[in-house]
Amino acid sequence: MTTPSEKLRHFASDNYAGLCPEAWDALVEANHHHTPSYGDDPWTSKAADLIRDVFETDCEVFFVFNGTAANSLALASLCQSYHSIICQDTAHVETDECGAPEFFSNGTKVLLVPGPDGKLEPASIERLVKRRTDIHFPKPKAVSLTQATELGTVYSLDELTAIGQCASKLGLRVHMDGARFANAVASLGVAPKQLAWEAGIDVLCLGGTKNGGAVGEAVVFFNRDLAYEFDYRCKQAGQLASKMRFLSAPWVGMLKDGAWLRHAAHANQMAARLAQGIRALPGVPILFPPQANSVFVQLPTPLVDALHQRGWRFYTFIGQGGCRLMCSWDTTEQDVDGLVSDLRELATGA
Ligand SMILES: *Cc1c(COP(=O)(O)O)cnc(C)c1O
Repeated sequence: MTTPSEKLRHFASDNYAGLCPEAWDALVEANHHHTPSYGDDPWTSKAADLIRDVFETDCEVFFVFNGTAANSLALASLCQSYHSIICQDTAHVETDECGAPEFFSNGTKVLLVPGPDGKLEPASIERLVKRRTDIHFPKPKAVSLTQATELGTVYSLDELTAIGQCASKLGLRVHMDGARFANAVASLGVAPKQLAWEAGIDVLCLGGTKNGGAVGEAVVFFNRDLAYEFDYRCKQAGQLASKMRFLSAPWVGMLKDGAWLRHAAHANQMAARLAQGIRALPGVPILFPPQANSVFVQLPTPLVDALHQRGWRFYTFIGQGGCRLMCSWDTTEQDVDGLVSDLRELATGA
């Protein structure tokens, strides 16, 4: 299948990568016996328990097929149709979910605010909420933020806490798109709960797929009241897996001995190595502080074409332009050094 210039691993997305061994082994193990369906099985309850252990609290946990469904259904459970959701310009819920948050909430409007490095700031949230308080405007009810952000940056604890406090003051609920939450935890080296309920997050969409899972994200309600009838919402949306154990078993494999954090830390380290290599090259500016597992660079079109010709794949449409170089749980030092070496040769002729 692979042509000579085709690489084994790419920098396109962390969802290009396969399953990590821990997820794979758990799937194999879950395949041995007949097991009750629709989540009424030991794998699913074990996975939910492990998530409660990770966050050190008694949260409500649901497993759905992907991040779009997780975000949309979580947001729908925070809002009525006449409400609005505030997020940053580059948020996945705005740019990459085909209107699903609006669809599943029966029309709740997503409102955008700008912010540096893919982040929301309390002042701009407050400005938006206070600009209009009349009956003609869709009433702001939720803030949605992404950790790590779409631009490979990470909200610090202080930044998160400030947003949590601002939201609480303004009567807003807080949703976190955590497709790369593990990378943020690994980057900051803090306890998961500090980036979650302690910072005022009501519901977290916890990503598994991009961190070495096969399929499936967890919706984690720290505010348990908001999980009311969420199971019906999932079923109606076509998100209740009948063989649920194949969504949940990989979580058990990845959570039980901390593989989820090891893999995220490794992906982050590979991005840091890549950034270090790129900084040594003239004329290849890095666009945002690389704090998680991606590096955004500005490359002239001929250089992009030349890299593509050498078999490297990466995205050029994410965020505010530039090329996104994304590392995964299985990215190797050789992959990174190979890309840097090709970049050096093409950019400098050396
Ligand atoms: C990948 C991703 C998702 C989930 O996307 P799906 O393709 O629906 O699984 C959600 N948020 C962010 C920031 C992502 O990068």
